[in-house]
Amino acid sequence: MINASLSELSRALSAGHISSVELTQEFLRRIARLNPTLNAFITVDEEKSLAQARAADAALSAGTAGPLTGIPVAQKDLFCAKGWLTTCGSKILSNFVSPYDAAVVERLNEAGMVCLGKTNMDEFAMGSSNETSFYGPVRNPWDTGRVAGGSSGGSAAAVAARLAPVATGTDTGGSIRQPAAFSGLCGLKPSYGIVSRWGMVAFASSLDQAGPMARSARDCALLLNAMAGFDPRDSTSIERAPEDYCRELDAPAADPAKPLAGLRIGLPREFFDDTAPCDPQTSAAVAASIEELRRLGAQTIELSLPNVRHGISAYYVIAPAEASSNLSRFDGVRYGWRAPDYSNLEDMYCKTRAQGFGAEVKRRVLIGAYVLSHGYYDAFYLQAQRIRRLIAADFAAAFTQCDLLLGPTSPDIAFALGEKTDDPVQMYLTDIYTIAVNLAGLPGISIPCGFAQAGEKSLPIGLQLIGNYFSEARLLNAAHRYQQATDWHTRIPEGIE
Ligand code: GLN
Repeated sequence: MINASLSELSRALSAGHISSVELTQEFLRRIARLNPTLNAFITVDEEKSLAQARAADAALSAGTAGPLTGIPVAQKDLFCAKGWLTTCGSKILSNFVSPYDAAVVERLNEAGMVCLGKTNMDEFAMGSSNETSFYGPVRNPWDTGRVAGGSSGGSAAAVAARLAPVATGTDTGGSIRQPAAFSGLCGLKPSYGIVSRWGMVAFASSLDQAGPMARSARDCALLLNAMAGFDPRDSTSIERAPEDYCRELDAPAADPAKPLAGLRIGLPREFFDDTAPCDPQTSAAVAASIEELRRLGAQTIELSLPNVRHGISAYYVIAPAEASSNLSRFDGVRYGWRAPDYSNLEDMYCKTRAQGFGAEVKRRVLIGAYVLSHGYYDAFYLQAQRIRRLIAADFAAAFTQCDLLLGPTSPDIAFALGEKTDDPVQMYLTDIYTIAVNLAGLPGISIPCGFAQAGEKSLPIGLQLIGNYFSEARLLNAAHRYQQATDWHTRIPEGIE
């Protein structure tokens, strides 16, 4: 059952071949066995999970079950979940038990899914390796000496190691796609506004978006069906008619040998030149995937996104600016951890924040406060917003010529633990292919497209596809057809059985 797809699990549950309680117990046993090594979960609460599983079993026997009823899911520890510790990977929220459910949690609960626990992540989702977590780094199931990616590294490791069939993630600059690439998974960052941010601990509100992480495009589509939807409590939620993200995957192709006939894939020059130098094994795997997509009927077009090269610079002004404002609520007064010794109110604020936040978060708060301050606002923040607009215009122009864009997800495979922790800029550069997508608010997906040899180990390589606004169904379909023709996504890390 641990390798079953969501549809297979759903069928087994409806047919009564397995109960949700049995399925949940199987994953909980795996978590108990493998989490001490991987550190993918911050919180597991067997009683809570099993209570949900019992309720799902009751719905299954009553005939009121939906397609995801009884299926376990791991939730990134950035989603508030009622009665669950919700730490966001931080010390300052290390004692915060949420009094309410985030919209995503609410929706998955309503779908009858079983929460297996809260997954590890970079502190406040700031990082690309999960090494900024107060709870220690996550280890990559493909090679435990390497990072699982970040910030949704716990969710990625959990799904890759079969500790959960699917997981939620959030992506502000690449945090679903990059860990999916490093861990051999499929991860979708949806268009901004289709999944409610209500109850997600905010990092950079104009960029944050939640999405599914799974082993296949089809499982991502099924989870997105449950996650997406208008929510009046999030002022940036978009009111659109509900969509079935599986619809294109299930539609028969006119020519079964060429299911992607008519699809125009743009290859942005900047993803393949020296702007973003790529590891040779990654380049070779991406080149082979382009050939495969052509065999499936897609047509490729070379084009240019001239301003994406400024994406990292613009992001590292805008994201910290928003973070400095969002994180001002953590002051030791209303909730969370408070410094034990202080002499007066101001001293309490200072000590709580100085001792409660980690180094990367403090760096962002300082940069953010600086770029927003009088005299620097025009030079940095306003300039970054202009670049953001130019990047969005580049994408808009590209989508007049093609349906999807293609490139690597990350310039390299998962790196060694500790390799980039002393050099924040090197860490930031790992998001060079993903960040522009968030600045423009577009959807992007990462899927496994090969493996790189690193010493004795084989490490997954990710391929990124980017779509125009609200083209999730098309993106998922392209990913799905590729996955029907290849088997990269079915590989299992050695030794996790
Ligand atoms: N790595 C990027 C950062 O550190 C993106 C993180 C994310 O998407 N949450 O900000």
